[in-house]
Amino acid sequence: MEPIIRVKKLRKWFPVRLGFFRSIVSRRQLFVKAVDGIDFSIYRGEIFGLAGESGSGKTTTGRLLVRLIKPTGGRIFFEGKDVTFMSETEFKPMRKKIQIIFQDPYESLNPRMLVRDILEEPLLIHGYTGEELRKRVYKALEDVQLIPPDDFLLRYPHELSGGQRQRVAVARALVLDPDFIVADEPVSMLDVSIRAGILNLLLRLREKYNVGFLFITHDLALSRQICDRIAVMYLGKIVEMGDVDDVIGNPLHPYTKALIAAVPVPDPTSKRVEVVISGEIPSAIFPPSGCRFHTRCPEFMGDICKEVEPQLVEIEKNHFVACHLYSKK
Ligand code: SF4
Repeated sequence: MEPIIRVKKLRKWFPVRLGFFRSIVSRRQLFVKAVDGIDFSIYRGEIFGLAGESGSGKTTTGRLLVRLIKPTGGRIFFEGKDVTFMSETEFKPMRKKIQIIFQDPYESLNPRMLVRDILEEPLLIHGYTGEELRKRVYKALEDVQLIPPDDFLLRYPHELSGGQRQRVAVARALVLDPDFIVADEPVSMLDVSIRAGILNLLLRLREKYNVGFLFITHDLALSRQICDRIAVMYLGKIVEMGDVDDVIGNPLHPYTKALIAAVPVPDPTSKRVEVVISGEIPSAIFPPSGCRFHTRCPEFMGDICKEVEPQLVEIEKNHFVACHLYSKK
């Protein structure tokens, strides 16, 4: 089966702007290596999670896939076609098939636009008018359960609750009938009480329209509820990837183990191995040599970890990990 999205050795390095005097002292151009050579595929109807701390590169990856930013290297394929460096004109027919839902519904909706105008805007850009445009707006509002649509069309975002605003943001992503949606922490700004409603909505839309999702999250417990597969990122690299139950139920990489150990458990009697990682995530301008996690790893093994970069290899069926603990076997 052809994946809807495939990335190969994808890289995004942001140049660092140095002050005038520092640029004389250091003539070398420095880069923030936000995404540094990652590979994965996402299939139709699949929810693929991307997890990690802030600064791991997950949001940059999402923005690369919807072409909000251009990659430094590597390739992005959409439905088998290389779209990495396609011109905007060439890409336009595919543009409507790839949409994004942002984290903050308070910022992502223009406060001066009515819900009707927010939903009509992308349709007008893609040439829809008249009855077809009206039908699509109504259908999108019904799909996100803002019913009856007439009660919402003439409201401004500030007249809606947080959950309703995020539903409008989802409707805006849906209105063009996409095949692939990047959902960038879509519930992290919402009250816990309304999160479940938005997650169920995404699951229903996946069932109904067979849309593929990249679901970006820092919350591993949440990813287990919604994702089919997951990749864990650290400092611009994927360190573990596989079916969500395998990665979260049987984590192999010390970083994944630490992230899971940090998730609160509702059952106080449950036993869980404590894994402590120290310190902050290092700078992505000067990432550590060898394994990027070696400066914080509780299972550090010396020179091999410091000097040799571990590759992502399949340890169990469809379960990949980049760690010398496994490559030694
Ligand atoms: Fe830890 Fe070494 Fe594995 Fe990196 S390669 S995660 S430092 S054990």
